[in-house]
This record gives sequence, structure tokens and C-alpha cells, in this order.
Amino acid sequence: MSLKVIQGFVLIWLFFSCNNAVSVPENTSAEVSDSSTLISESQSVEVSSTAQEMPDSNAKVVLAVLGVMQDGGRPHLGCEKSCCAPETLQNMNDFLVVSLGIFDREHTQGYMMEATPDFVPQWRKFKGIFPEITLKTFGGIFLTHAHIGHYLGLAYLGKEAFNAHATPVYAMPRMAEFLKNNGPWSQLVANENIELRPTAHNDTLQLTKNLSVIPILVPHRDEYSETVGYQIIGPEKSALFIPDIDKWERWDQSILELIQQVDYAFLDATFFDGKELDNRDMSLVPHPFMVESLDLFDTLEISDRNKVYFIHFNHTNPVLDADSQAANRVNLAGFNIAQQGQLFGL
Ligand SMILES: [Zn+2]
Ligand SMILES: [Zn+2]
Ligand SMILES: [Zn+2]
Repeated sequence: MSLKVIQGFVLIWLFFSCNNAVSVPENTSAEVSDSSTLISESQSVEVSSTAQEMPDSNAKVVLAVLGVMQDGGRPHLGCEKSCCAPETLQNMNDFLVVSLGIFDREHTQGYMMEATPDFVPQWRKFKGIFPEITLKTFGGIFLTHAHIGHYLGLAYLGKEAFNAHATPVYAMPRMAEFLKNNGPWSQLVANENIELRPTAHNDTLQLTKNLSVIPILVPHRDEYSETVGYQIIGPEKSALFIPDIDKWERWDQSILELIQQVDYAFLDATFFDGKELDNRDMSLVPHPFMVESLDLFDTLEISDRNKVYFIHFNHTNPVLDADSQAANRVNLAGFNIAQQGQLFGL
């Protein structure tokens, strides 16, 4: 081969490997598409058997990953590292704050987990996947807790923005009291932009014939509200969503048993390990480090490990780079890194 031909190959290889390192493909087509394709295109390592995440076209309920980041988002205010540099992050909407969209196709009804500071682009993505959804007929929003990444987006339902009429907001008792008694949220309640729907720990909320949701209390820094995760149950499959929790061992429930009971588990992966923040005392922001979760979940069968989709990444988390050693380690152990735009049939 001539030198020019070899140089050509190297350039093509560089182009694709750089693209893989920085971008997460997203799916905004109206069709439910093969999310395992999304994974294999964005990761160079062999991926665990995730074929079951492809929602078959008959799935009555579909779950869409609308965001994967921790509360502060990406780009993160003040971050001058490569994770948030303009060269690395070309599109501001590629990594939105953690949220799930759930759509019951049979009843044409949609729900969202969390109202994040990225609520507006997130809603557009949700509607891009399921054009039948409208804000007027929207089934509602489920809140986990009163940290900024999880409820600030409610503001866009108010007078200064959409001026919604009675959008259902599902919240636990302390969370609901917090919204009722503190501005600007109290104005949303008083103006009936939102309608608070009370929820209770372990209490099943039947949303449609095909879909129910169960809030589960988890330990977290509960300054303004309690914190819950959710079990989301469709006609065929169920998912667990726990974006924030202090440490697995501080919980009175067994995460291993819960993973065994569901089909998908979207779990707190804020930090990869204890060395990640150089300017903050990490004991003040406790989360299960991914390396701790990998150790704890190591006893699970491979089929159970394949159910785990790590989510809620701090901008510093190295797994955001699909070609990093950290991401390879997670994938090779049989776990998944949630990608914005992934779809799952429930
Ligand atoms: Zn959070
Ligand atoms: Zn950053
Ligand atoms: Zn939190």
C-alpha cells in the first residue's frame, strides 16, 4: 500500500474514533427504533446482550431516555475541563439533565419523570418521538425530590411561559407541601397551572390500563423534601428509576433483589469513584460510586447485570466518554451506560 492510502485510512479512522468519543447519537424519529443500534454505533467495545431493550413495534408502553446528566447538567457552569469544552461538546442539547418519558401508545397518553432545568428541549425531544403528545392533554410529571435538577422545569408551566391549565404533578407529601408553600412554585398551585396529585410510599398509582407507577422512598440529602425512586410497570415489562440515593447500604431495601424483580434498572451513577472531584468534599454529596455499585452487583447473574443502565452522571464522570477505560470496564462487566434517546418497550 502506498503511503497516501495508509494516511487516508488513518484519517478515516481518526474521524470515526473522535466522533465516537464525543457524541451520543439521539433518536428523534417518530418510529420506535432499534436502540441496540444506538449502542453499537457509539461504543467500540463489545456490548453486553442488550438486544432485549429494542422495543418491539407492538409494545403498548414505551420508555424514552430524555436526559442522563446530574442536576448541574453538561456543560456545567464554571467547568473549564475538557468534559465541558466547546470542542468536546458541540451541541448544547446532547447531554440533558436526567429524565424519562413514558408513553402509552394504546391510550395516547404521555408522562414524564422529573421536570428538569432542561424541560423545554426535553419536551421537544419527547414530542419528536411521540408526536401525538400535547401539553394540554399531557398525563403529568412525577417528581423524585426538591433538588434543582429534578423540579426547576415546573417554572415553564407558569404564567411567564406556557401558562398550563392543571398539568398533573405527582409528588410525595413533603415535596407537595414545599411547592404549595414556597414561591415561585406556590403561584403555579394558586393559578392552577399545576394540579398536585398526592402519592405515598409503596402505593400503586394506576395511570392507564397498561401503566402503573409505584414511588419508593430512598435515603438522600432531604433538605426540602423526601426523595423517591419509581417502579414503572407496563403490560409486559417493568423498570426501576433511582436517579439519586446516598449509598446502597444506607437503604432498608435490597437493590440486588429489586434489580432481579424488574426488567430494566436506571440507577444513580453520579460519580465513577472517590477521586472525581478535586474541589469538593465528596462525603458531603454522598452517592454510590459506580465502582462500589460494580462490586456490589458483581454477584448478580449476567442476565440481571444486563438490566442495569447507569444514569445521572456528573459532568466529570469518565464513562461519558464511550471510549474511556471506565466505560469499557462497565460494559465488559455486563452493565450499560444510559444514552439519551434510547427507547425501551415495557
Ligand atoms: Zn440529582
Ligand atoms: Zn465539565
Ligand atoms: Zn438530589
